[in-house]
Amino acid sequence: MSKHLSLLDATQPPHRVTHRVTAIAGDGIGPEVMAAARRVLDAAGVSIAWEDAEAGGAAFARGVVSGVPSETIASIARTRVLFKGPLETPVGHGGKSANVTLRKLFETFANVRPVREIPGVPTRFSGSGVDLVVVRENVEDLYAGIEHMQTPEVAQCLKLISRKGCEKIVRLAFELARAEGRTRVHCATKANIMKLTEGLMKKVFEEIATDYPEIEAKHIIIDNCAHQLVMKPQQFQVIVTTNLNGDILSDLCSGLIGGLGFSPSVNLGHDVAIFEPVHGSAPDIAGQDKANPTAMILSGAILLRHLGEMEAAIRVENAVLATLEEGAARTPDMAAGGPSVGTRAYTEAVIAHLGCAPKDHAARAAAPLRIPARMAGASMRPAPARAAIGVDVFIESESEPEAIGSALAALAVGHGFELKMISNRGTQVYPARDAETDCVNHWRCRFLATSRAADIPARTLARLLEAIEVAGWRWMHIEKLQEFDGVPAYTRAQGED
Ligand code: NAD
Repeated sequence: MSKHLSLLDATQPPHRVTHRVTAIAGDGIGPEVMAAARRVLDAAGVSIAWEDAEAGGAAFARGVVSGVPSETIASIARTRVLFKGPLETPVGHGGKSANVTLRKLFETFANVRPVREIPGVPTRFSGSGVDLVVVRENVEDLYAGIEHMQTPEVAQCLKLISRKGCEKIVRLAFELARAEGRTRVHCATKANIMKLTEGLMKKVFEEIATDYPEIEAKHIIIDNCAHQLVMKPQQFQVIVTTNLNGDILSDLCSGLIGGLGFSPSVNLGHDVAIFEPVHGSAPDIAGQDKANPTAMILSGAILLRHLGEMEAAIRVENAVLATLEEGAARTPDMAAGGPSVGTRAYTEAVIAHLGCAPKDHAARAAAPLRIPARMAGASMRPAPARAAIGVDVFIESESEPEAIGSALAALAVGHGFELKMISNRGTQVYPARDAETDCVNHWRCRFLATSRAADIPARTLARLLEAIEVAGWRWMHIEKLQEFDGVPAYTRAQGED
């Protein structure tokens, strides 16, 4: 092992400040990896006054519906820094995820996941120079959690993307690139299909990129991004993306460097930062001294950077990398069936390597990413000229499209509307098209107002809805069709003129 020289060999920072940090050990392997990480941070000579708090499984078990007790919220509000292990979430049933609750409560709008090739951890990408950061929007998109069963057979989840949300995450991605001396930022979206939601992220990315002329800004379609990450990962330095895309891509990226056990992350907001490993609670190996604590320890190193403890952060990161490069201490997930050590022994090995550095993968000495400045509340953009030109009415029916269409077309006349078309699962089915659509009992009926105005009065809409209802059609949802500065603020159905 090669010794790191200079200041990094000092065992104590010159000015020892005590930092207050809330710690949630979490579920499953959480307590084991948390204990490991805290041992390493303490051994690195950083003084942290931990406020131990609870969330997840234990909180759900004692009836806290959100999974996050009020004492925990109070502690985080006080310390503004949370170090947390994984929390269990009921899948497909039960309450909300405690993780998502924490992210939303403290508006940690950015999930930042650095992914860098690790010496001594062979993967099929070893030697390709993977060194990138995924910057994922963390609170909007489909994770706004607005879901409805619109009919007993058809579910809907609203994908909400705001200009403000895009501006915050895109700016953070460029700032991170600048802080770390990186020269390229990719924005990965599905703007070719979701032109308004994913398209907004792309548009904002292209606008903000002009403020960072020294950084190459490239848009890439998300599916190609996944493909390119596997084919040629070294082309990526920073990838900024929407929430669901980022969730999937960042796990893929963890796979490039050896798996979830090696991936740290931070959830960053204006007031609070949450540091956590990417992996879950791994119930299959919990309590067996088998967990790989690397991701948790590296999350701790990012936490130290955030606290301004740069030297200690680099010492911890280098100690982990040197331990892995040496290869004598490997937890079972790294050992591929060969000899392995437990979580505790691996942790002791990392501590023994404090002051060492790997041969060629030394930790980045770049400036830490600061919590971004809050943007002014109101948009400075001029208000657009608006027009409401119609309404989509969603109805539930077992009838055929022709029957629904002819009835609603007749009904629209006399209520200030014409029926433009009906779509089923996004494809126009009335007036009939060539497409073979396997229809379900959920119909979007597009009515255009016969006269143009800035808005459609509520009573006009109410009269239309009443007529629909009286004629025996069950409606469950409406959506105004607007234009901003003459540009339609809605998309056409597949096959719609
Ligand atoms: P998981 O990450 O817990 O486990 C997936 C696989 O990876 C398992 O085989 C596990 O043994 C292994 N693994 C994960 N971390 C490891 C480590 N540090 N060392 C060695 N092996 C490791 O994913 P899952 O099984 O899909 O989820 C289990 C629970 O964790 C669920 O309740 C889920 O909601 C929760 N979860 C929480 C978070 C979080 O708190 N941020 C993230 C993901 C999943």
